[in-house]
Amino acid sequence: MFVNDIRRGGQSRLTFTRDSTFHKELRRRVDDYFRSSNRSQRDCPAMYLKTAIILTFFGGFYSLLVFVAASWWQALPLTVLLGLSMAAIGFNIEHDGSHHSYSNHAWINRLAAMTMDLIGASSYVWHWKHVVVHHTYVNITGHDADIDISFFGRLTPHQKKFGVHRWQHFYLWPLYGLNVIKWHLYDDFRDVILGRIGPMRMPRPKRWELVGFIGGKVLLMTLAFGLPLLFHPLWKVLLFYVLIVGLAGVVVSVVFQLAHCVEEAEFPLPRQNSGAMENAWAIHQVETTVDFARRSRVQSWLLGGLNFQIEHHLFPRVCHVNYPAISKLVEQTCRDFGLRYGEHPSFRAGLSSHFRWLRRMGNEPAAQQLLVASEHGPS
Ligand SMILES: [Zn+2]
Repeated sequence: MFVNDIRRGGQSRLTFTRDSTFHKELRRRVDDYFRSSNRSQRDCPAMYLKTAIILTFFGGFYSLLVFVAASWWQALPLTVLLGLSMAAIGFNIEHDGSHHSYSNHAWINRLAAMTMDLIGASSYVWHWKHVVVHHTYVNITGHDADIDISFFGRLTPHQKKFGVHRWQHFYLWPLYGLNVIKWHLYDDFRDVILGRIGPMRMPRPKRWELVGFIGGKVLLMTLAFGLPLLFHPLWKVLLFYVLIVGLAGVVVSVVFQLAHCVEEAEFPLPRQNSGAMENAWAIHQVETTVDFARRSRVQSWLLGGLNFQIEHHLFPRVCHVNYPAISKLVEQTCRDFGLRYGEHPSFRAGLSSHFRWLRRMGNEPAAQQLLVASEHGPS
């Protein structure tokens, strides 16, 4: 519904090849699985239990840090735990809610999505930035906002390289954390005021959406600064805000980067004049996305299925607790259609690949990709 509203400023829209043979067959197999196993795609009991556990831990760590902790050795572990529980809310609850994969009821999805406002970022902007722009145009330079961190880093072969990028595989990691602080306090406001996500137009929030946006930012100011300032000096409140959000930001950014900014992921470009992509949408999702640590139950639980990003990109409306079960079907179907199913066996392997990708992008000269795409793209 929202995709139709997205336009790239001044340029033609991107189109994917219409051949949907792979997607149809994949959907048939996955639908068969849900029918025969009697499992439901949404409203899974495991999801509600997980939500209660994570929100309880978040509330507990926050209360202990603000109201109880009296020394640095009490505050530091709570800082780490609070940062990680914020990341867990983003991975597990907010992400499914915003994709409408949490429940069949719109109001439950909305409530789950609004946990994004609880951890400081606007659920309204995230919906457009992530669900609409990123998921539609994943890894397409100039369209996918997730791979655009301006001059701070070069994440794709089609971005301009600056001298400083030579060291980006070292300096980008802490910047990932600071980026989320900027997102809280600046990016959300800029995007709403300009009505844009990067080059893509975004409708400005109206009525209840605007109330939700402002309410979310008031909640951020209250939880991050207002309430803590009643009990602690300003410098401590600011320091702990930076530490907590910085840590959550590094964890969130890195987990998302392992899916798309690694050596195995493709960065295709549209034809310059027509905006036509070489592949069908579903094939594009497989070629631009990589899984990791599929066998780890602990990571699958903690990361909200974000180690199964191929499955997530192909079935964003299926609750993430189902991804381990359908991943074998997805892998087999990719094989049957001659598609590469990109995967790292562990988190560490994915992390190493992201490090090497950053080093490569920081040192390799920029290719004349736009020209190449226009010469070799589909006719
Ligand atoms: Zn998503």
